[in-house]
Amino acid sequence: MAEQVLELSEKRTPKLVIVVPCYNEEPVLSKTFQVLETILNDLMVNRMVNDTSRLLFVDDGSKDATWPMIDAEHHQQPLVTGVKLSRNFGHQGALLAGLTTASQDADLMVTIDADLQDDPHAIIEMVSKSENADIVYGVRSSRTTDTWFKRWSAGQFYQVMHALGVEMIPNSADFRLMSKRAVQALLSMPERNVFLRGMVPLVGFPSAEVEYARQPRQAGTSKYPLRKMLSFAFDGITSFSTVPIRLIMNLGIMIVIIGIGLLVYSLIQQMMGHVVAGWSSLMISIWVIGGIQLICLSTIGEYIGKIFSEVKRRPRFIIETDTYH
Ligand code: UDP
Ligand code: MG
Repeated sequence: MAEQVLELSEKRTPKLVIVVPCYNEEPVLSKTFQVLETILNDLMVNRMVNDTSRLLFVDDGSKDATWPMIDAEHHQQPLVTGVKLSRNFGHQGALLAGLTTASQDADLMVTIDADLQDDPHAIIEMVSKSENADIVYGVRSSRTTDTWFKRWSAGQFYQVMHALGVEMIPNSADFRLMSKRAVQALLSMPERNVFLRGMVPLVGFPSAEVEYARQPRQAGTSKYPLRKMLSFAFDGITSFSTVPIRLIMNLGIMIVIIGIGLLVYSLIQQMMGHVVAGWSSLMISIWVIGGIQLICLSTIGEYIGKIFSEVKRRPRFIIETDTYH
């Protein structure tokens, strides 16, 4: 009898919360509601998740009608709930806010972008794989809808990260399923500079992958222009690796050795009476070394800046209101 009860409670259908970060997503939001509601309904009808499951839209300080739309949908359709952040905290902050809210009582959490670029139908496969895995990564099987530049730069980025020893799942964005214990482990990482793609694999636990084809954005515009993309990549590298600092050290040592070699060489030349017409070589070395010093200083400054923002321990997000319960 007791065994039977245990088995029943182990097999109970999980509560799923789908977390959707939204920043100025007004143009696409009504379609997103419709698509995700249908999928969550299907999952509930098939008893893959229980009927307390919810969609959780996180308004990341949008300047358009995103929050009024989420609020209105909540009143019409109880499956939809929302969290409103006090200002724009960025994609990663919005995801953390959603996961923190949902992890109070959800057993499974999926994060997906609001623009429907990641195929929401993959959520069904993710849920079925979650029986044997704590983390199910959505992996893009094709990125033909991204521009060649985005594909090329993403490829370069994964290579650099790999070379720096950071484990990442290539072609996986922030579309994944996590169990409650995986989310709790993730949230226990205290860093302020959040880079979920690097942090999630550090959680460990059994994981699985689900492939899907990446679609073009359904409406609205990308919130990641080149400038933001570069700074995201730079943050990813400097939050996860101190290899750049070591490279700078090696570079410095190499330059000092070359410098000493040159000094010895020019001293010998002078002793032998050769006149060194040194103006150009002097100028070149001043500029080259000056440049290298600036790069080194700014790289070290970047790390000091990171340390500065970590020690301040400011909140990673601030919730203004929510309609989760
Ligand atoms: N996003 C956010 N806060 C931001 C920027 C973006 O919550 O400051 C959300 C955005 O609404 C979307 C997701 O993050 O749901 C990914 O953004 P986007 O689609 O613009 O990026 P891309 O797919 O072009 O890399
Ligand atoms: Mg997108």
